[in-house]
Amino acid sequence: ERARLARLRHTPAVTLDGERVELHANIELPADAAAAVEAGATGVGLFRSEFLFMNRDGELPSEDEQFTAYRAAVEAMRGMPVTIRTVDVGADKPLDRMSASELRHEHVLNPAMGLRAIRWSLAEPSMFRQQLRAIYRASAFGKIRLLIPMVAHLGEMRQIHEAIKRVQQQLTDAGQAYTSVQLGVMIEIPAAAIMLPLLLRYVDFVSIGTNDLIQYTLAIDRADEAVAHLYDPWHPAVVHLIASSIAQARAAGKSVSVCGEMAGDPAFTDLLLGMGLRSFSMHPSQIPSVKQRVLRADAGRLAAVLPGVLESDDPQKAAELAFLPGGSTR
Ligand code: PEP
Ligand code: MG
Repeated sequence: ERARLARLRHTPAVTLDGERVELHANIELPADAAAAVEAGATGVGLFRSEFLFMNRDGELPSEDEQFTAYRAAVEAMRGMPVTIRTVDVGADKPLDRMSASELRHEHVLNPAMGLRAIRWSLAEPSMFRQQLRAIYRASAFGKIRLLIPMVAHLGEMRQIHEAIKRVQQQLTDAGQAYTSVQLGVMIEIPAAAIMLPLLLRYVDFVSIGTNDLIQYTLAIDRADEAVAHLYDPWHPAVVHLIASSIAQARAAGKSVSVCGEMAGDPAFTDLLLGMGLRSFSMHPSQIPSVKQRVLRADAGRLAAVLPGVLESDDPQKAAELAFLPGGSTR
């Protein structure tokens, strides 16, 4: 089994009909990059930078501390791309009590809909610019992509572009090296998925965060056990939003990936391949089993039977039948 997994690590993820698929890793700290390389990841699709900000007894990480962490991650990935997501604290990922009260980030009634992620970054502009400077400085040491969480408004994108321009000027003035960095946005609020063609004008790539997209589409708190049975990735509304997001991004020539839990669950690999997805990001430990599904998939056939799945009022059952070799929903 170990030898088989080791062999699998060096096998490129290519479908039976020759479609190349990127299997990237989700990491929380730079030290996780080693496990990503070990598992055969071809990049980091999601570096959850909030883990540098959590459990710190009051102070937030300085620009230099962040720069050191981001540089360590890109160096560990040896030339492969590293997608750094700006801080996504709030809701299920609270700051510790001291820095929280200092930043007036106290308990609120509905934290999942509160001042989290990019909303918090834009409310704390000097903190945001510090993080952007650290990310841009690290870009001189490897291939970095910048990813923004929880965007719901085009105005947020304009503010982000302004902040990036200002930070680039600051770095240039200070004689600090940096290279161009691709900008991407998370699709995890239904508004972002619904207005995707407009949002795409502001970005180079998108990454679909299915964990939050499901939560906000179905109004099911992902952390509330009382409604956990209603948290359903196969819900037709969820399946349609993901399918249309992938199709619209591809039609616009922008790269698209999925970095929520669905990407690492082999039960969804055929579905996502059929929708045209060619980039998945997941916990490193999930890469081998998703790769095995990719190696056995015929992407052209999955795409051909997908419309039947999307038309069904039970997409899960329809997919089970349609994605069987030789199966069809028609
Ligand atoms: C998501 O929402 O799917 C996602 C990847 O972000 P997080 O789980 O960190 O909220
Ligand atoms: Mg999320």
